[in-house]
Amino acid sequence: MRCQHCGEVAVISMPQHRLKLCEKHFPLWVERRVARTIESFQMFSSDDRLLVAVSGGKDSLALWEILLRLGYQADGLYIHLGIEHEGYSHVSQSYAEAFAATHPDATLHLVDVRARYGRSIPELAREGGRRACSRCGMIKRYIMNRTAREGDYDAIVTGHNLDDEAAQLLQNNLYWLRGYLQRQAPVLPQTCQGLVRKAKPLCLVAERESAAYTFVRGIEYIQQECPHSAGATSIFHKKILNDMERRSPGTKLQYYQGFVRARQDGFIIGDEDTPPLEECERCGQPTTANALCAFCRMLETEET
Ligand code: SF4
Ligand SMILES: [Zn+2]
Ligand SMILES: [Zn+2]
Repeated sequence: MRCQHCGEVAVISMPQHRLKLCEKHFPLWVERRVARTIESFQMFSSDDRLLVAVSGGKDSLALWEILLRLGYQADGLYIHLGIEHEGYSHVSQSYAEAFAATHPDATLHLVDVRARYGRSIPELAREGGRRACSRCGMIKRYIMNRTAREGDYDAIVTGHNLDDEAAQLLQNNLYWLRGYLQRQAPVLPQTCQGLVRKAKPLCLVAERESAAYTFVRGIEYIQQECPHSAGATSIFHKKILNDMERRSPGTKLQYYQGFVRARQDGFIIGDEDTPPLEECERCGQPTTANALCAFCRMLETEET
């Protein structure tokens, strides 16, 4: 297998792009692809200050590396969730810190959920009688937005890749979750004061490509999955999409890109009017609720 640019040994074959590339040309191809995605969706500009949500996993660290190589001002945010099973949070933090240590121009912000709010994600979930993931998503979104506002960042960027987005789309399609379909986008602009823009620059990069990128760029990351992800529907949906991709390379990309175009053309209309956002009385974060945001309500309910 030979690189189609230079004839050297290829390290990856990407049948959906009819492309085989070597260890020199593959990472450059990924970086160019991300640069074009940022530009075509007008995610942010070179003057913007970016906050990368870093989990210690391959996608977020690959994204941070790519943004820095492309010349963006990108800092990281690691949220310590307090997941102790096999030291998951501790180990993932150490990968985020190791990456930051080799990139001295970038800052890594650390927020420890238990240290700051009194209880870890699993503890908060247990108290509320919920699964960890149902609390985790809301808490992470809250902390990301708050950290971005306090640090005066222009956009929050996350490492969602093509496989994540296609699996999310399948889930949203299967149950026709119109509100979710409307909000599933490569970039969500700032819709009101206090809600920071969100972008997913890896949305056209497949998981396999992101993993290969970290390998050729020598980025170390946590290989272990979060223990709470076992049995998640998204894993099942990814498997179905991978089976389809094997039979028909390019399926995931077509499925997701077709959706994004349809959304841009106005085919996806939400199922409800979005209520106006107000400031939470306690923390000042934007919320659709009357007095307290969901995060402050959760802390209050579980305190009593
Ligand atoms: S699997 Fe669940 S608990 Fe673990 S990081 Fe993801 S959302 Fe949070
Ligand atoms: Zn080459
Ligand atoms: Zn609040």
